Order: sequence, then structure tokens, then C-alpha cells
Amino acid sequence: MPSSRGRSIVARAAAAGALLAVGLAVVSWTGSDSKDEGDGQGEGKVTIVYEDDEIKPQGRRIVDVIRKSRVLEQTADWINGSVALPHDLVVKVTDKVPPGVTDAVTQPDGRTIYVPPAFLTRLQGVAGEVAKTVKRPALFPADKFNADGLAALSTRFIFGHELGHALQRQLQLPNLGLEEDAADGFASFHTVNEAGPAPSLAGAMIFDALARKEGKLTLEGLSSDHPVTQQRVFNFLCYLHGSDPKKFDGPLVGAGYLPKSRAAFCPQAWAMLDHGWWTQLGPHFREAFKAQGDSSQEKARARLIAETKALAEKLDEIRTREAHP
Ligand SMILES: [Zn+2]
Repeated sequence: MPSSRGRSIVARAAAAGALLAVGLAVVSWTGSDSKDEGDGQGEGKVTIVYEDDEIKPQGRRIVDVIRKSRVLEQTADWINGSVALPHDLVVKVTDKVPPGVTDAVTQPDGRTIYVPPAFLTRLQGVAGEVAKTVKRPALFPADKFNADGLAALSTRFIFGHELGHALQRQLQLPNLGLEEDAADGFASFHTVNEAGPAPSLAGAMIFDALARKEGKLTLEGLSSDHPVTQQRVFNFLCYLHGSDPKKFDGPLVGAGYLPKSRAAFCPQAWAMLDHGWWTQLGPHFREAFKAQGDSSQEKARARLIAETKALAEKLDEIRTREAHP
């Protein structure tokens, strides 16, 4: 868990804040009180609730944009069709949030995600600056390269991050690294597989803009449980590239967005992430999804084996190139 002090300092300094953070509000941890935890037979569903009476007038326009884009519902539908959660998960788009919540956050028990309209408004502001000042990457859809389109697509990516937290918490997934990395990983895993490149690209552009606003790295930024913002940009691009290197080499590496030195490792990194999430979710697949999910897991495993072998064969060349660029 991050320190609230550290994050709030970053938030003030950046004016936009650390956009992705697991919630800090203390709620009672019910832990192992539930007999259906982890047995894959849970009846929990994700619901999206727009608390219209609790949304201040200044947030209504962006909430309308997000609601019409259905980005939250699309991700919730995928979870509801594939994963049996032990508990319901309520996603509240509301200004009625626990004390100190300014960003999209997941509560520690993984049963509530808050998406404050003020957060969406800040995101839309950054998105508007990106649309005005950044050249559109060829891969990114022209009709979405505006404040609303970028805000909606980056919200899909950010919601994927929060769902990554909720899945880890509700399913008590065994982690081999930082929870924040795994949450970013779920955002990539889910959106790349289900929605193509646009959410990752929107996330990368927004985070790149935020990193520039944050400016020089602070002690709090470096010691955060999130990787530093600029590093996350390259992680998002790396997973996207690795998911289909033939397709994305030109538009991501050739166009200069992702350095060749990192790209060399991305196909294996994506294969590991994809295999990792399918395998972690496997015991929790809904009955109706089991055949499809198991098949995805098997394909991901075969790909991981192939990509690891391919990396081993290229490694001497990569290391030599790195040593003598
Ligand atoms: Zn987080």
C-alpha cells in the first residue's frame, strides 16, 4: 500500500496526481469469512452505478461522455461473462467518496471501485492538451483523437488497472511482484486482448503528458509503489508491441515511440503476462467460459514456450548490440 502522504504530495505537485492508486480508506477486512472464496463458484458480479444525485454539476458532462462510450460497461461485461467473483463489485461513479479520495481507487477488499467525476474531468483536461499538442500516432483512431475520445479510451485502460486490483484482492491471487505492476499488467492483458491497441495508446499518451507535468523526479515519486510514470508509458507500449510484433514494429518501434533496446524483450514479456493472467484466472472461470478460457490459457502457454525459445536464440545478438550500439 502506498503512503497517503507520499501520494498526496505527488498529486499536489502534478496537479493531476497519481492517476492510478489503490484506495487507502480503511474498511473492515472480512478476509476468510466467506466460504465461497477462491473455489471458482462465486456469484459475484460487477455493476456500474452512476450516482446521478451525487454528481456535481461540473462533472456531469464528462460523466455523460464516459457513460455513452460504455467503456466501463464493456470491461464489466467481460468480467461478468468469464470470471466468477466471490463477491459483488460495485463501481461507483460519484462525488460521494471516502475522505481524501481524488483519483480512481479500489477499496482494499476489492468490492468497491470509486471513479470520481473530478478525476475524469482532470483526465479530460490532460486529454485535451494531448490532442492539441501531440502528433497522432498512426495506430490511434483519428475520430477518437480529441479530448472526449482520449478520455474515454484512457478511462478504459485505467479501469482495467483498478479491476486488476479488485481481482487480486477478491481472488487473493498470489503475487510475485508489486501489486501496482500486476494491476497495470491486467489493464494491458485485458484491453490488448479485448479492445485492441487504442486503450494502451491512450493510456501511454496521457501518462506521458502527466510525467512531463510531474517534472523532475521527487523522493516520493521514486519511492512510490507505482513504477515512475514515464516507465509505465513504456511498459504499456512494450506489452502492446509484444502482443503482435510483426504488426506493431513499424508503428511503435520504427516510428520512435518504443526504443529498440526494450522492444527486443517485449514479445516474451507479453507472452509471460498473457500466460500469467489466463493461468491466474483459470481456477475462477465461469462454467460457460471454461472451454474458451482453458483454450486461451493453453495457447498462451504454447506461445510463452515459443517466445522464450526465440529470445534465447536472439539473446547473443541483442546483448552484443547493447554492448556495442
Ligand atoms: Zn493502483
